[in-house]
Amino acid sequence: SKTDHQLLVIFGASGDLTARKLVPALFNLYVARQLPENFAVLGVSRSPMSDEEFRDRVVEKSPYLEKRLDDLREDYIKRFSSRFFYEDVGGSYEDSYGPLKERIDRINVQMGTRGNYIFYLSTPPVLYKTIAAKLAEQDLNKQVEGWRRLIVEKPFGYSLDSAKELNQGLQQYFNEKQIYRIDHYLGKETVQNLLVTRFSNSIFEPLWNRNYIHHVEITNAEQVGVEKRGGYYDKSGAVRDMFQNHLLQIVSLVVMEPPISNRPEDIRNEKVKALKSLRVMKSEEELHQNTIRGQYVASEVDGVKVKGYREEEGVDPISTTETYAAIKFYVDNWRWEGVPFYVRTAKRMPTKVTEVVIHFKTPHHQIFKDVGMDNKDNKLIIRIQPNEGMMIKFGVKVPGQGFKVERANLDFYYSSLAETYVMQAYERLLLDAMQGDATLYARADEVEAAWEFVDPILGYWKKGANVRMYGYAAGVWGPEHADELIEGLGYWRNPGEH
Ligand code: NAP
Repeated sequence: SKTDHQLLVIFGASGDLTARKLVPALFNLYVARQLPENFAVLGVSRSPMSDEEFRDRVVEKSPYLEKRLDDLREDYIKRFSSRFFYEDVGGSYEDSYGPLKERIDRINVQMGTRGNYIFYLSTPPVLYKTIAAKLAEQDLNKQVEGWRRLIVEKPFGYSLDSAKELNQGLQQYFNEKQIYRIDHYLGKETVQNLLVTRFSNSIFEPLWNRNYIHHVEITNAEQVGVEKRGGYYDKSGAVRDMFQNHLLQIVSLVVMEPPISNRPEDIRNEKVKALKSLRVMKSEEELHQNTIRGQYVASEVDGVKVKGYREEEGVDPISTTETYAAIKFYVDNWRWEGVPFYVRTAKRMPTKVTEVVIHFKTPHHQIFKDVGMDNKDNKLIIRIQPNEGMMIKFGVKVPGQGFKVERANLDFYYSSLAETYVMQAYERLLLDAMQGDATLYARADEVEAAWEFVDPILGYWKKGANVRMYGYAAGVWGPEHADELIEGLGYWRNPGEH
């Protein structure tokens, strides 16, 4: 296998992400025989726990693995869980990592992991820099007998300044090639498929520009509210939680120029260039015209009362954190000049969906204008979730007399590929990092370029009083006012409606 023997050290291993995402992803890789023969996991956090307790918690008695384990032989599960170890860092992540280093050395010898270590930071982000520094103190950043990599969870910074500070903080101890900033959207099959669709076909790329594309629309909708994450979400909001990272990553893949090869640096160079070409909004007038924020209010969905955002647990009753954001912007380069991009993300929408819609221009001279439908443009819809796939909408003749036009769909769904296993995002991303492939990880300059675009929007909204916060009821497609943003085009494509 391409995957070296290695040890994965997870910081924050007593947390939610480890049990809910990381270990199930590792388990699926194990079942698929994708893990190297000599592989071990060392969980690290402050809570005292024995190896046995950790194995029970994240594997043998894990509610996230329950269904899968039921079908498997006990010795098979034991073999997997015997690769898990646990070490606490004492009372704080700032104590000496001397004992941790010794434990790592012992496991390395016992499990034959050849000094190849990944350190996965899954703690609160304020600790990322400290942990990197403490690892460096023990020379665990130095690649002498094996390689050393650092995976960093989101969020990466809170603003441009904090992202720069975090980059500098980590780069003091690890070089950029060792750092893997996770954006789990890049682990999704359809997000990667954007690259393949564009650059492995000859039928899309010739049209992929201002001459043929009228506008681009990206929607990320969640049906749920903030659930139990109110406290966290209130400090973040839709733009920081979704737009700055996941949605701008998708934007960069839609916007980018063809890379010269599929090597990680070639792809990432183009993505950075794409993000740098987004027109940063500077004046209050621009920001006022092109951004809309909203919050869901108390309402009723199918006869069930739903709390308003400000009444959610952990949320400030006078909070000005947005649960809805719609942003219109332009891309200043040769390919995209004048093509508007509309991106929105929100909670408490009618359905859960993420999709990219490329709206093509209508033909210049329309001879069937009077006999077609009201919105005749060709659309390419890339569905990122759920039911990943893509669809082209185009006009066809209605059988019978005359030339009546109706729209037909040409579609492809991954679910219809029988026997094709679609990896979960974390499986793909973990496996890539284990193999040293950083293509699907965000580079420092990429993260900073995204913040450059987002910072002025957040700065403008923070001014509060003169920037409206629109309320919207749960189960509708956000504030009505958002339709004005897309005015002239008529409508947002609300999945399920058009
Ligand atoms: P979590 O459960 O809140 O925290 C992980 C671990 O960090 C905890 O088990 C705790 O372990 C330690 N910790 C928590 N608060 C601490 C504090 N104030 N000081 C020191 N240690 C503290 O977090 P998580 O949900 O697993 O997420 C981990 C990271 O992944 C976060 O950066 C989060 O933003 C990111 N993330 C999570 C999700 C998700 O679905 N959960 C999704 C995307 C990104 P000990 O007390 O035992 O030390």
